[in-house]
Amino acid sequence: MSECIFCKIIAGEIPSQKVYENEYVYAFRDISPQAPVHILVVPKEHVESVANLSAENSYMVAKCFEAIAEVAKSEGLVEGFRVITNSGKAAGQTVFHLHFHLLGGKIMGESLI
Ligand code: AMP
Ligand code: ZN
Repeated sequence: MSECIFCKIIAGEIPSQKVYENEYVYAFRDISPQAPVHILVVPKEHVESVANLSAENSYMVAKCFEAIAEVAKSEGLVEGFRVITNSGKAAGQTVFHLHFHLLGGKIMGESLI
């Protein structure tokens, strides 16, 4: 069985606040929100990070971004939002299952892009 916490969330073995799901993607609220809206959008298939993407599995990034567009709309983020992904320890990645942070609901400022 996978020891990956996000695989367990996707499988329903660990509870989460789900906001969206389809065949390829699962989205849920971050347990430690950094903005009024902070949602994690993850592919259902386990891939560690952006560094592990290739022509064979990169379709899941498109699926995630299609979901992000829908979730941003349903969360009312009409003024804008930020999408962040950390790849590797030096970038601050703590869960090694590819995920995109969808952040919004406040003015983000110009730091860190
Ligand atoms: P990262 O540091 O980019 O790997 O992001 C991992 C994110 O997962 C952090 O923002 C954590 O707050 C979040 N997180 C960890 N465990 C859970 C959980 N059980 N449910 C929701 N979010 C979680
Ligand atoms: Zn996983």
